[in-house]
Amino acid sequence: MKKKVSILVPCYNEQQSLPLLYEQLKQLMDNNSQYDWELILVDDGSKDATLAACKSLRAADDRVCYISLSRNFGKEKAMLAGFDHASGDCLVIMDADLQHPPHVIPEMLQHWEDGFEDVYAKRNDRGKESWLRRKLSLAYYKMLQKSTNIDILPNVGDFRLLDRKCIDALKNMRESERYTKGLYCWIGFKKKEITFDQADRVAGKSSFNFFKLMNLAVSGITSYTVAPLRISTVLGFIVSICAFIYMIYVLIKTCIMGDPVQGFPTLVILILFLGGVQLLSIGIIGEYLARIYQESKRRPVYIISEKEGC
Ligand code: UDP
Ligand code: MG
Repeated sequence: MKKKVSILVPCYNEQQSLPLLYEQLKQLMDNNSQYDWELILVDDGSKDATLAACKSLRAADDRVCYISLSRNFGKEKAMLAGFDHASGDCLVIMDADLQHPPHVIPEMLQHWEDGFEDVYAKRNDRGKESWLRRKLSLAYYKMLQKSTNIDILPNVGDFRLLDRKCIDALKNMRESERYTKGLYCWIGFKKKEITFDQADRVAGKSSFNFFKLMNLAVSGITSYTVAPLRISTVLGFIVSICAFIYMIYVLIKTCIMGDPVQGFPTLVILILFLGGVQLLSIGIIGEYLARIYQESKRRPVYIISEKEGC
């Protein structure tokens, strides 16, 4: 029996790119008929005609199936919807905007055939991206890597091939604040790195603005490590020790010199500094508390409004 390969494409406002992507994928699927193919399009509550584009692709080719979510849930959740519906022996995740070139897929399949279970593609070049975004992103990965003992690789995105075992493992993780990039590393399995040149977006614009990226970054930290909590404990400890030493100094000084009312600046600095440290620590605890609150509601991660073929 032929092995089945699923391709998962989360789409948000991709009416222009989808037909272009399909053209390339169609060629790939036709040229590699030793596999059965399935193309899963997840329309993540797009505001343009993406759903219509999915429907017409489905009508033309029954290897295509689509899931339409009831609103925009974000890429991470759209991907989970795809994992839940994939029936392939392996699954390739890629973006709809052709930044992930389909010609890399045969190479991934080759490694999969050789026994690797998670073949991830690393960008040689980050493409058209601002200097600040590039620097911040690299610094972020460095920090994340330092604070956890599991590697999260920089310049590796969601473009990868996952074996059925990995998909099943990922499907089991139902957290609603998802940071899938971390989950890939967390689940383990035999990994293989390949590289590719990231192209620029063919059409439309990136839906990740600065704030969305910041959100994803914070959720990456909180979903992956409790290091910030520990840092605030350590900070509290250090500040307490300093305060204690200073207290003894003040006590002795007052006893010896009889120092009357003085030291207003010291007082103000101390109050402000301690206030800042306390607020920061409460904020950090709050981030984790918010996650507990979100997860404790046990809502479904996404809601489907319609689907066909999956
Ligand atoms: N995407 C999605 N839901 C969203 C935002 C993005 O499904 O809320 C999809 C989008 O259609 C694309 C992929 O995620 O296929 C990557 O998005 P984008 O190209 O905007 O991000 P970037 O490449 O700039 O990181
Ligand atoms: Mg993109």
